[in-house]
Amino acid sequence: MQKDCIIIGGGISGLATAYRLKKAGLNVLLLEKKDQPGGAIRSEVCDDFLIDYGPNSTLETSPKIRDFVDEIGLKDRRVYASDSAKNRYILRGGQLLALPMSPPKFLATKLFSWQAKLRLFAEPFIKPAPEDKEETISQFVTRRLGREFLDYAINPFVAGVYAGDPDRLSVRSAVAKIYALEKKYGSLIKGAFRGAKERKKRAEVDKTKAQLFSFQNGMQELVDALVKLLGDAVKMNAAVASLKKNPSSDLYEIELAGSENEMVQTKSIVFTSPAFVTADLIKNLDGDLTKSLNKITYPPVTMAFLGYKKTEQCRDLDGFGFLIPKVENRKILGNIWSSTLFPNRAPVAGAALTTFVGGMRQPELTEQSDADLAEMVQSELRDILGLQGTPDIIKIKRWRRAIPQYELGHQAILDKVESFERRHPGLFISGNFRDGISVGDCIVNSEKVANNVFEEIKHKTISLVE
Ligand SMILES: Cc1cc2nc3c(=O)[nH]c(=O)nc-3n(C[C@H](O)[C@H](O)[C@H](O)COP(=O)(O)OP(=O)(O)OC[C@H]3O[C@@H](n4cnc5c(N)ncnc54)[C@H](O)[C@@H]3O)c2cc1C
Repeated sequence: MQKDCIIIGGGISGLATAYRLKKAGLNVLLLEKKDQPGGAIRSEVCDDFLIDYGPNSTLETSPKIRDFVDEIGLKDRRVYASDSAKNRYILRGGQLLALPMSPPKFLATKLFSWQAKLRLFAEPFIKPAPEDKEETISQFVTRRLGREFLDYAINPFVAGVYAGDPDRLSVRSAVAKIYALEKKYGSLIKGAFRGAKERKKRAEVDKTKAQLFSFQNGMQELVDALVKLLGDAVKMNAAVASLKKNPSSDLYEIELAGSENEMVQTKSIVFTSPAFVTADLIKNLDGDLTKSLNKITYPPVTMAFLGYKKTEQCRDLDGFGFLIPKVENRKILGNIWSSTLFPNRAPVAGAALTTFVGGMRQPELTEQSDADLAEMVQSELRDILGLQGTPDIIKIKRWRRAIPQYELGHQAILDKVESFERRHPGLFISGNFRDGISVGDCIVNSEKVANNVFEEIKHKTISLVE
């Protein structure tokens, strides 16, 4: 079997890249290790509830995301989050306090002390860090905005996005847009105002203003639509075990696990597998990059879904949900009020609550039995939300290596990836450890990757014909 391009991994990065290449007329094949596609994306309808085991939604930060969804036929299936989802809560002193979304609300909120609020006025006058100093998110935020802002705004935000630890994440790599504000404008506050104008020109949307969306039957619809469009260009139960370059044909040869006699030849390969898998696959080509990719940490995260057909006693679930700062010493990272966000997640009188446990903060908590985990989550929600009663459904999903952490030194790893790609024409390394972890980021990046492959193949096709 000979292909123009083999895409390794059937998560959103792989599916979107394969779709774009197939549409451009290339003969592609996507190889996915598991028996179902989607990677981190997985939704299920169960007993009147719709459960998203991985991402619940994503942000439409670029018109490219909306256009892609429209193009693959999901325009009428997309659902934007309800208006009340704009309310987001942070736990402070055991109480849920709304995250202020406007300057007057910021001045009025009890989430930050007066000292913390006054500290922000100093921000425009603080000098940028020296060029050669790579800072963690904690160092950067404490320097610019103060410790309380780190504890009660950034720490919970980082837990919500990366399940990460701001003491380890690189500000430059993990929150590149915030880092760029300091570099470009010398201040986050000045940059927020001036940057808004520039974003408008580029038709980009600020993360705090971008709309959150999913689909009527959950994020899985994205996967199902792409798999349908790809047809027989997707092969499941196909774990790539090794690859090598055939010096005489200039083609790469891929071997699948458990089928020694089956070999696929291809002009190019796009890796969208997790970093630790890609590391292993390229070990004969670049041992140094293998070591570097293996340094990317993927902490475990467990998702616990509780579904109630009727909620008898519970605070008003009038928002996206809540996040918990580390200093609050709780046993969950946060909780999404899924049935407030989107329709069809629970019966009308009921509720669907999605809780995340573990991450870099408390990986050990993910190791409990399902029964202990469910009990722990219920106990926390009883305390925080006043939620009483027994759930009608409990679903637990363990992501043993969930989300790549863009820690200090991440950019140096990506520089090596770029150098590898230059030295090995036809090999492209992609996936959520490069250029953003959100589903939306992966969709946007798939366009860039597909373009790069296409350019190279077009060139190669000509030289092969010669
Ligand atoms: C619990 C959780 C919650 C999240 N919540 C959100 C959210 O609310 N919003 C948001 O935007 N993002 C969220 N994310 C992040 C987002 O879902 C992921 O970053 C994104 O889906 C990753 O897509 P990917 O294709 O790059 O990687 P993956 O989805 O990890 O796909 C990689 C694929 O490679 C396959 N593979 C591995 N080894 C091989 C091999 N040898 N051969 C062939 N295939 C192989 C894997 O089986 C997998 O299918 C969440 C992630 C997790 C885990």
